[in-house]
Amino acid sequence: MAQYEAVIGLEVHVQLNTATKLFCRCRNHFGDPPNTNVCPVCLGLPGALPVVNQAAVAHAVKTGLLLNCTIAAFSKFDRKHYFYPDLPKAYQISQYDLPVCRAGWLEILLNEQPRRIGITRVHMEEDAGKLMHDEGGGGSVVDLNRTGTPLLEIVSEPELHSPDAAYAYLTTLKQLISYLGVSDCNMEEGSLRCDANVSVRPVGVTTLGTKVEIKNMNSFKGVHKALSYEIERQTKAVSAGQAIVQETRLFDTVQEKTVSMRSKEEAHDYRYFPDPDLAPMTFSAAQVEAVRATLPELPRARKERFAAQFALSDYDATLLTSERAMAEYFEATVQAGASGKAAANWIANNLLTALNAAHLTLAQCRITPAQLADMIALVESNAISSTNAKNDVFPVMFATGASPQAIVDEKGLRQVSDTTQIDAWVRAALEQNPAVMAALTSGKAKAAGTLVGAVMRLSQGKANPALVNARIAELTRAYLPPPPEPA
Ligand SMILES: [Zn+2]
Repeated sequence: MAQYEAVIGLEVHVQLNTATKLFCRCRNHFGDPPNTNVCPVCLGLPGALPVVNQAAVAHAVKTGLLLNCTIAAFSKFDRKHYFYPDLPKAYQISQYDLPVCRAGWLEILLNEQPRRIGITRVHMEEDAGKLMHDEGGGGSVVDLNRTGTPLLEIVSEPELHSPDAAYAYLTTLKQLISYLGVSDCNMEEGSLRCDANVSVRPVGVTTLGTKVEIKNMNSFKGVHKALSYEIERQTKAVSAGQAIVQETRLFDTVQEKTVSMRSKEEAHDYRYFPDPDLAPMTFSAAQVEAVRATLPELPRARKERFAAQFALSDYDATLLTSERAMAEYFEATVQAGASGKAAANWIANNLLTALNAAHLTLAQCRITPAQLADMIALVESNAISSTNAKNDVFPVMFATGASPQAIVDEKGLRQVSDTTQIDAWVRAALEQNPAVMAALTSGKAKAAGTLVGAVMRLSQGKANPALVNARIAELTRAYLPPPPEPA
């Protein structure tokens, strides 16, 4: 039996997080009451004129540069016509033949090997409204808050050959776009959506098989499952000598399979033409270079710098740069005086665990980087023990946002490093333990170790453990028999 390979191309829609919509000044915000962020422009009322949002254009150019694209010197908006109840003016403003960005690539890691996936184009377009069915009354209702929201459509070349590769592409793309700060990439709120084109062909064949488009995948795991199902379905069909029907299929998230939605036989004619209400956009080389200069340090470069500058392990450097907010939190903690190693340990081992347990993001964290650095300084100056820091100080900081100094003072946790006080505890411990004294006088030096627990109890855990060990060694030496004379 012939071996088959899958050929996958992805179309990703990213909602830009500009303050206002793409062609009007309505608020661009998820979750407001229905039909409150609307105006004649985004309602598509006759005579209303769109004006392009320059912040959205800047986001598009930045994203194009992030994806190694060529930025068009000349780009325009086109009308894409279709009728649907969520699109009041019966055309969507999109870009047809002259998108802002084209011919780029995205590097992904597949089985730890870097691979470049071609980016065909990145174009700007407006979103449609949102239909809700059976919301009461038995009919459907429409919320037009989303109409006119700025979107980028990022189209990959058909260069992905497995569900794993598609998954790696999507996670890498999401990480980079989040770093750029142009979208929050929240799939649950619809600010990142993905459709896939998939076909199969015998290994060694270079022409493409008949492709099927899959829609309705609402998570990266869903994309993986839908592609796995669809590749298997097509491979079985082709192996059995059946033809693949060119069609659009929906992913059924409950049954985890794709189901036929509509045949592409009735391919749409969108009657694209340039939008006469919008002037074309031009970008000079100097403008593009000015935008390039504003690109942030990206995860891989930052990871390498962290590893070198702060002597972090590969694991810690990867973890701390996985999100821009975390990388910035870490650097702010170091700038506030903590060592890189200590900051990395506290963030990776304590802070992230606490955030996960509380279902909070770093943006919602009540501990500021400066407070974390202060707490690390208290541990390193022996003002508090690391056990007290972990168990008594950090959890209160996390819950209340109080400063570590205030918590230490309020709980009386300040570690005792005064040798006169520690010596008094050591003598008291010796008096309470005559058996230890007897063992020492008979030459068993190790018996002194059993005094540590007694001293810590006497000090209520506040004695500096390193000093306790040193003072016990010093004060018990007198009880030991003299060392034998050298022969
Ligand atoms: Zn509007």
